[in-house]
Amino acid sequence: MANDFMGKVKENWQQRAMESTTLRAELRLVPRQLKWVLFAVYVAALGVLVWLGVWMPNIHPFGIAVEPLPLRLLAVFGVLTGIAAGVSFFVMLMVYIGRDARRRGMRPVLWVLVALFVPYLIGVILYFVVRDPLPVNCPQCGSIVSAQFTFCPACKFNLRPHCPECRLPLRAGYRFCPRCGFSLQTDAAMPGAAEAHP
Ligand SMILES: [Zn+2]
Ligand SMILES: [Zn+2]
Repeated sequence: MANDFMGKVKENWQQRAMESTTLRAELRLVPRQLKWVLFAVYVAALGVLVWLGVWMPNIHPFGIAVEPLPLRLLAVFGVLTGIAAGVSFFVMLMVYIGRDARRRGMRPVLWVLVALFVPYLIGVILYFVVRDPLPVNCPQCGSIVSAQFTFCPACKFNLRPHCPECRLPLRAGYRFCPRCGFSLQTDAAMPGAAEAHP
C-alpha cells in the first residue's frame, strides 16, 4: 500500500517534469479581480490607519507610538504592508491550489481544506508533492486525456510509448532511444508509431 503510494508520487513527479510552464502562466490561475480586491483592501486599511494616526494620536495601531508623526506613519505603513503581503500571498496560494486541483482533475475543496488546516504549511507542501499531472491533448485525435492514461480512450493512441528494445519510456519527437540507441525512425518521429514498426 505504502509502496503503491510512493510509486504513484514518483510517477506523477516524472509526468509533471514534462509540463513546461512559467510562474507568470501559473499566476494567471488567480483571477485578476481577486488581486484587485486584495489591493483595494490594503489601500483602504492604509487610509484608515493614516486617518487614525493624524486625527486620533491616542490610538496606536500595532502598538507603534514613535514620535514624530511622519515617522509613526512610516512605521505603521511598513508593518501594514508586511501583513498585507503575507495575507495576500496566503489567500492567492489557497485560490491557486483550488483552481490548480480542479484543472488536474483532483478534488479542489478537499485540497484547499488540507492546505488550510494541516499546520506548518505541511498541507501545502503535501499538495505540491502529490498533485496529479495536467491533462494532455492526445497527439492523434486532440481529445483531452488524463496524463495517467496509457492509451487515448477516444482513438487508442499509445500515449506512453516505450522503447521496443529496452522498455525505456519515450517522449514524443525522439528518433532514437536515448538508452540503447534503438532506431525509432518514422516520418512523424512519433515513438507511438515506431512501436508498430519495430
Ligand atoms: Zn486520441
Ligand atoms: Zn531502448
